[in-house]
Amino acid sequence: MAAYARPADLSEALAILASPRPPLILAGGTDYYPARVGKPLNDDLLDITAIPDLRGIQDAANHWRIGATVTWGEIAAAELPPLFDGLRQAAREVGGAQVQNAGTLAGNLCNASPAADGAPMLMAMDARLELQSKGGRREMPLAQFISGNRRTQLQPGELVTAILVPKPAYQGRSVFLKLGARRYLVISIAMVGVMLDVADGIVQQAGLAIGACSAAAKRLPELEQALVGHKLAPALAQRVLPEHFASLSPIDDIRADAAYRRDSAMILTRRAIAALAIQKT
Ligand SMILES: Cc1cc2nc3c(=O)[nH]c(=O)nc-3n(C[C@H](O)[C@H](O)[C@H](O)COP(=O)(O)OP(=O)(O)OC[C@H]3O[C@@H](n4cnc5c(N)ncnc54)[C@H](O)[C@@H]3O)c2cc1C
Repeated sequence: MAAYARPADLSEALAILASPRPPLILAGGTDYYPARVGKPLNDDLLDITAIPDLRGIQDAANHWRIGATVTWGEIAAAELPPLFDGLRQAAREVGGAQVQNAGTLAGNLCNASPAADGAPMLMAMDARLELQSKGGRREMPLAQFISGNRRTQLQPGELVTAILVPKPAYQGRSVFLKLGARRYLVISIAMVGVMLDVADGIVQQAGLAIGACSAAAKRLPELEQALVGHKLAPALAQRVLPEHFASLSPIDDIRADAAYRRDSAMILTRRAIAALAIQKT
């Protein structure tokens, strides 16, 4: 019979994960259970939702720490600076209220769907993941952690314990835009997360990532560089050119063809930058 554990202590959870046949990690279950409809539920499970160390959003010295069991609903409701506006927008786009109340940001990243709404915004924010096992703790950039379609660098015995978001040097602000076949409750055709750090009206640093247009969300470093040093004004969107999207590898599927996805990514990016330019700070 399958085993189910719901420890209230992080070290107990890590000890369970260190066993020779580690169980599957379960957070909100909103990816896990729908993937098993019509199949026997016979996995050993480690439910991590009772562990206090994995909860809450903390303002640490040079970064923000989002615990691994923080849900989309919690992010949407949290009092956070404008740096998080894009993540809050993404939160409101993930499923409906029921999914947002149970689904976690970390679960979204660990599931590593090419259409995961959390990945592009957090990549644009330069997020890192905190990984813990019985043997210790390490950090890894999110862009490295998600290594392909449903593939991550999570090692056996490891748990993602937090998402770490660095604090920008000046005034960080962000926006997230998603295109689907309808407005809500939809899998993305393309999406963009943009983070701009601005001082005296000039872009000092840019982070930009596109989702649903490659096996994993992808940063566009050449476009990021093309924005730095320029005034944050609606005309900045004109610096976004088709060649900046050459590294994407969108697929043709039932939702959209590759050319439409690539085009959508560019148009969403221009709109996102224009939206940031007219935003009140
Ligand atoms: C109706 C519906 C609509 C949805 N709409 C969207 C949408 O619009 N956009 C979107 O991006 N997603 C959507 N989803 C997918 C899902 O809700 C999200 O991906 C959610 O964030 C997953 O989080 P979870 O906590 O439920 O993950 P779980 O299902 O608990 O886990 C997902 C995977 O991550 C692993 N995992 C979870 N936490 C950890 C951890 N801390 N360390 C290591 N591994 C871990 C699990 O083992 C599992 O493999 C939808 C799902 C449903 C059912």
